[in-house]
Amino acid sequence: MYDFLSRVEWAVVIPIYIILILTAQIRYGLMAGLVYFVSSIWKREAWFRFRVYQTYAKKAQIKSEIKWSLVTGVIFSTMEMGVIVCNYLGITQIYTDFSEYGIFYFIFSVIAMIVLHDAYFYWTHRLLHWKPLYKIHKIHHDSVVTTAFTSFNFHPIEAVVQFSILPILMFLFPVHWLSITLFLFYMVIFNLSVHNSYEFYPKGMVRNKVFGQLSTPTHHSLHHKRVNCNYGLYFTYWDRLFGTLHPEYEEIFESVKDRAEEIKLSMDQPQKEAMS
Ligand SMILES: [Zn+2]
Ligand SMILES: [Zn+2]
Repeated sequence: MYDFLSRVEWAVVIPIYIILILTAQIRYGLMAGLVYFVSSIWKREAWFRFRVYQTYAKKAQIKSEIKWSLVTGVIFSTMEMGVIVCNYLGITQIYTDFSEYGIFYFIFSVIAMIVLHDAYFYWTHRLLHWKPLYKIHKIHHDSVVTTAFTSFNFHPIEAVVQFSILPILMFLFPVHWLSITLFLFYMVIFNLSVHNSYEFYPKGMVRNKVFGQLSTPTHHSLHHKRVNCNYGLYFTYWDRLFGTLHPEYEEIFESVKDRAEEIKLSMDQPQKEAMS
C-alpha cells in the first residue's frame, strides 16, 4: 500500500523540504516587511491620506499575525513539497517543456488558475463563515484594521484549506512550472495589497463595468470590519452575483478617494500660501 513511499528518495526530499521552509519564511518576511516598512514607516505621513481607515494596527496584533504566518509558511512549504513529490512520482499534470502546449496555452493556464482560485476562495471563504467553522477563520478576523502581515495570518486548518488549491490545479489540467510560479507570485502580491489598507486605485474605478470587477483594499477592509460581506479575493463578481457585496461599497470607496483628495488639497494650501 505504501509502495510509493519507497520510491521517494528521502535523502534528497528532506534537504529540499528544509530549503522550502527557510525560503518561505525569508520570502514572507522580506515581502510583508518591505510592504509594511515602505507604507507604514517610511511613507507614513505622505501616504496617510491613502489609508482606508485613518488608524493603524497595534503592535500586539502585528506580533500575533507574524506568529500565525510563520506556521502558515511551514504548512504551505509542506504542501509544496507534497506537490514536488507527486510530480516526481508522475501523478500530476505539471509539464516542463515549454513548447509542448505553446505560449497561448501558457497564458490561458495562468488566467485559468487565477479565475479558478477566486471561485475556490469565495466558496471556501463562505463555508469558513458558517457558524460551526467560524472559530477556525476567527484568527484571520482578529485583525480588523489589516496590515501586510494579515495576508497569511491563518489558523493551521485554514492554511491547509487555502493552499489546497495548488494540488487541485496540478491534477486538474496541464500547468508549466513557470505558470505556477507566476500564479503564486500574483496571489502573494494581491493578498499583500488588499490587506495593506492603502487605497491607490483611481476614483471611479469600482463603478466601471470592467475594472469594477477587480477587488480593492477597500473591498477587503470592509470584509474585515463588517465580517458578513465581500467574500471575494481577486474579483467582486461572485459577491455581486450572490448578493454579498456590501450595499455601500462603491460609495465608501469613493469617500475614501474624496478624503485622500481633500487631505492633499489641505497639505498643498499652506505651501502655496508660504510661497505667495
Ligand atoms: Zn472572512
Ligand atoms: Zn483578509
